[in-house]
Amino acid sequence: MSHRNTTTAGPAIYAERLARVRAEMRSRSVDALVVSVGFDLPFLVGYHAMPLERLTALVVTHERATLVVPRLEAPRVEHHATVFDLVAWNETDDPIAITAGLIGTARNVAIGDQMWARFLVELLKHLGGRQFVRSVDVVGPLRIQKDAAEIEALVAAGAAADRVAAQLQSGAIPLVGRTEAQVSADISARLIAEGHDVVNFAIVASGENAASPHHHAGARMIRHGDIVLCDFGGTMNGYCSDITRCVHIGEPPSDIARAWSDLQRAQEAGVMAGQVGATCESVDTASRQVLTEAGWGEFFIHRTGHGIGMEAHEEPYMVSGNHLPIALGHAFSVEPGIYVAGKWGMRLEDIVVATANGPLRMNATPRELVVL
Ligand code: ZN
Ligand code: ZN
Ligand code: ZN
Repeated sequence: MSHRNTTTAGPAIYAERLARVRAEMRSRSVDALVVSVGFDLPFLVGYHAMPLERLTALVVTHERATLVVPRLEAPRVEHHATVFDLVAWNETDDPIAITAGLIGTARNVAIGDQMWARFLVELLKHLGGRQFVRSVDVVGPLRIQKDAAEIEALVAAGAAADRVAAQLQSGAIPLVGRTEAQVSADISARLIAEGHDVVNFAIVASGENAASPHHHAGARMIRHGDIVLCDFGGTMNGYCSDITRCVHIGEPPSDIARAWSDLQRAQEAGVMAGQVGATCESVDTASRQVLTEAGWGEFFIHRTGHGIGMEAHEEPYMVSGNHLPIALGHAFSVEPGIYVAGKWGMRLEDIVVATANGPLRMNATPRELVVL
């Protein structure tokens, strides 16, 4: 797995993001922000920490930003160090004490969601009497609204995933006589060939296995009469793709054909509900209502979508109870499904970005149930 150290954005964007996160910190009375491995760090400063036992931590206060980094990683970091000070620690130093020193007397501290417990547990010993919040409180509001460069990256990742989906629909990816696992490996290789840096998942679920939404591609051999659900995506230039298409081996029986046309209408309704100002919940409601009226309500067993960006699943979530209003630059999946246990399943998924001109799909692959 290779992580790019840099994203396409330049230093100006990171200075702006740090200024904005400080404004969020001020408005929530957060005195210090500490992020480590994960995605808040590359979002804020353009540097992706290696997930290693040696601590890398960015400490942001109202006055300064400091990246604590193992000495041997410093050469990878130095050219990023335009918006933060760099503290390189030696093998015999205590990076936890250094980080605690930078946090200083800050009373209200935000901690990165993906900071490992092995670091946090040690850090907490230095931080008695403080209050803690999650970094999502101060970085989340920035990350959820994609800027023009981020949307461009989502468009490119979506187009690359579309090219693989087109290969699936054209029959260029052999299915019959292969196992799900073989097809999954094939799709993964094609995602890389089309420009992704990392494959995040390649679900291949055939026949009755398609009734399990996150089925692990396995030894089942794909055969005539199967529906084959393929849900795959990866990361390209720091941003994720995620698409689901289904194909049917031979003409589908009438119940499956009818279900697919209901599913297509449900997905369309969900996408069209993704308007600026509407609630996240209303996307879920729009898709669910179509399926419920068509008699499939009890077979649609998950939320309609999730946000997407640097992470394959992030805020906002398109789920009942989420009253967050959709804003410009929100990026999310719309992926209703129908799952009939022991028989078959189907899902249809596109990524959508909320724009001033309405919902913009990142995926253009035809949404028909293609017969192979
Ligand atoms: Zn999923
Ligand atoms: Zn998906
Ligand atoms: Zn998804």
